[in-house]
Amino acid sequence: MNIYIMTDMEGISGITSREQVLPEASRYQEGRRLMTADINVVVRACKEAGAEKVYVRDCHGGGMNIIWSDLCAEADGYVIGYTGDDRYPGLDECDAVILLGYHAMAGTLGGTLEHSMSSASIQNYHINGIPAGEVAIDAGIVGDKGKPVIMVTGDDKVCREAKELLPWVVTAEVKRGITWRGGMLLPAEKAYALLRERTIEAVQNAAFARPLVWDKPITMRVELVERGILPSAYAKPYMRILDGRTYEVTGDTMEEVLFRA
Ligand SMILES: [Zn+2]
Repeated sequence: MNIYIMTDMEGISGITSREQVLPEASRYQEGRRLMTADINVVVRACKEAGAEKVYVRDCHGGGMNIIWSDLCAEADGYVIGYTGDDRYPGLDECDAVILLGYHAMAGTLGGTLEHSMSSASIQNYHINGIPAGEVAIDAGIVGDKGKPVIMVTGDDKVCREAKELLPWVVTAEVKRGITWRGGMLLPAEKAYALLRERTIEAVQNAAFARPLVWDKPITMRVELVERGILPSAYAKPYMRILDGRTYEVTGDTMEEVLFRA
């Protein structure tokens, strides 16, 4: 069993504030250390549970957040930086996926740092008519390639969102969202113990997880935060404009739809 750990930052243990996740912000270095710490716990737990190979991708912002020199030696590779059209380099070699440090979809009440891809520009996504966030998108991308998501970690809101979409998924709720930028956090020691325990459970029960495969063709509706910023019809001749800040794109895979949107 080889595991791919896809990592975002907002749902990492100890993170509740924008100051911890934006490169220019005052507490960003702390955020980087916390992200690195969660990764080390989960990588080691994957190996403890019997995983042969473990790859990790830094997928927050530009993918340059984790502190390479502090990452544990048990992983087989860390994907850092820009990866072009391939959101999951190395996935072919893996059997199952963990979404580590994820957050609830845009607009979720009380979701810690909730958003969908971009808090500045995206108000809502709908996939085939269903409200969707990053868990739905990532589970769909790997699902199209036959790989199941076996674990999601983050606050209670993203764990609930994941369970609704992927009833088999193991979740690790390392905090409870109270507002967009405030929560009830587990102490570090308890958060790391929970991550370790749930990772072992997820890897050992990976056979019960199923790939999430959205019906094709997939339609993604993109509702922008503001009017006046619709993409140019020359750049995206395939999009259908629904109103002054909403458009739709269609594609044969979730990955295609995401990049076309
Ligand atoms: Zn992020």
